[in-house]
Amino acid sequence: MADQTRVIAFFDERMLAHQPNSDAPFLPGRMDKRVRELLSALNVPWVYPEHAGRLTAIRQLLELEPVPGLLFESGRAATREQLGRVHTSSYLDHVYELRGENAWLDMDTTAVSPGSVEAAEVAAGTAIAAVEAVVQGRTQSAFALVRPPGHHAEPVRARGFCLFNNVAVAAAHARAELGCERVLIVDWDAHHANGTQDIFWADPDVMLFDIHRAPPFYPGTGKLEEVGVGLGEGTTINVPMPAGAGDRAYLKAFHEILLPATDWFQPDLILVSAGFDPHSFDLALNVSYDGFAAMTGLLQELAQRHCKGQLVFVLEGGYHLLSLSRGVRTVLEVLAGAPSPEPGTRGLAEVDTAAAFHAPAFLSQESR
Ligand SMILES: [Zn+2]
Repeated sequence: MADQTRVIAFFDERMLAHQPNSDAPFLPGRMDKRVRELLSALNVPWVYPEHAGRLTAIRQLLELEPVPGLLFESGRAATREQLGRVHTSSYLDHVYELRGENAWLDMDTTAVSPGSVEAAEVAAGTAIAAVEAVVQGRTQSAFALVRPPGHHAEPVRARGFCLFNNVAVAAAHARAELGCERVLIVDWDAHHANGTQDIFWADPDVMLFDIHRAPPFYPGTGKLEEVGVGLGEGTTINVPMPAGAGDRAYLKAFHEILLPATDWFQPDLILVSAGFDPHSFDLALNVSYDGFAAMTGLLQELAQRHCKGQLVFVLEGGYHLLSLSRGVRTVLEVLAGAPSPEPGTRGLAEVDTAAAFHAPAFLSQESR
């Protein structure tokens, strides 16, 4: 196994063409009228928060500071059949009709521009490509660098800047085509994965572990008591966090909740909905780069224990370009084999050295 590829990052330029711009003429109708009323009440110019610069920033940092051993591959578009495993045909009909248009999809300002439908197909298909590379043994792990993100997209509804639920499409593909029986999805984005939860709510073969900022933070779901229904009762696990929660709380949740849940569930594939908005720069929570690295290290251990190391990351949110790009790079470094330092320990060795250096100065009164 020593010479096996450790990690491939998947990226496709077509995802940059999703560029909603409210200055363009949008399809008229009730939604346009109501969203315009909302935006005009803001008193500041409105810019689509989930923009192409997010992926560009990640690419630029990886060019400037390459991760040793990291390979790149391009993505591909998901088919209607692949999307149809988690979205209804009426929803797919509606989205496909918007190809080439500017239009609102939801009152929360989720929108499409002329290139958006293809970008969303490519985002979901690229998550599938990453899963296939890992399950087929071409690489130990993979990271699908995609947008629009996916985890807020429900079976019948676009929401939260998400059109198709990329990680859910990838999980369903792994089960339908790649021989995977049980898939674990770990979602550490700051926002609750209402869409992923909805899709697998009654499904005992896909476990969702979701740690997020507690309601009423957007989207307002993800309470402790939301555990799934029917055969799926118990395979939805929500861990709501207060504002400012950071590395120690996240790692405690991983050790005390995710580890026993994973040992019980015994997945044969682990997917990660990786948002970088828990970083302090996005102002909701307080996870550090070392925190992301430590969580990645723990997920690698779990993947080794249960599923031959098979671990696939799919990008979700993260809106501060610095913490987003640096966070992604940190995860890729660990996937490529770098050690993950214990959070909160940086500088402790230097303090020991400095303390030993300065100590003689304070030993006796005479040396004053
Ligand atoms: Zn988010």
